Amino acid sequence: MNEHHDKIVIKFEDNDTSTTSNPIQVSTAAPETTGFVIDTQAPAKIDELTEDLSIPFGHQNAMLDDVMPDFDFANPATDPVKLAHKLINIVRVKKALGISANQLGLPYRVFVMQSDPVFVCFNPVVTYYSDDGAVLDEACLSWPGVGVKIKRPVSIRVRFKDPYGNACTKQFTGMAARVFQHEFDHLNGIRYYDRAVPFHKERFKKNWKKVVRFIKNRAK
Ligand SMILES: [Zn+2]
Repeated sequence: MNEHHDKIVIKFEDNDTSTTSNPIQVSTAAPETTGFVIDTQAPAKIDELTEDLSIPFGHQNAMLDDVMPDFDFANPATDPVKLAHKLINIVRVKKALGISANQLGLPYRVFVMQSDPVFVCFNPVVTYYSDDGAVLDEACLSWPGVGVKIKRPVSIRVRFKDPYGNACTKQFTGMAARVFQHEFDHLNGIRYYDRAVPFHKERFKKNWKKVVRFIKNRAK
């Protein structure tokens, strides 16, 4: 099932903006570091590629309905640096813009955002949303192949912790703000299509049924 799954993944890439009525640009202005920067251009190592990188489908992953509890750096349930690397490997191999731990069935309040640099965001909090909104097609590795038009604020201010437990405060605009909000929703049990207007939500449901049917037929 997973190899079929992989073949129909539509990545959440920058060029998605070409299909939107209100394209926005990624802010490239002086990215600050979080103390956790990796070379995202380097080819993935073989052991990274052979590790299990499968992503369960959204309708089969009950963890996507749950609010993930804060990660406890004082008493960590798993190694946060290893967890960060696993998430980074996945976005890199899948050429995605972000992924949250609970998309992989891992019950931790953390996501990775493919950006420059890569941000690994533990215990994220949004402290400010701008009043302006932009409509953009969003895709998700948990519901591969089905984009949905969603309106979200263009800019946000956020707090989170890096994998070493250091507190970070950032302002994001454009695609980075979009990805942050999408992944942040995952950690709060909110699905991206729940943010869509009813017309687009209904269209999502129909299209997702088609994808599931397609996958079942391919598996026969
Ligand atoms: Zn998603």
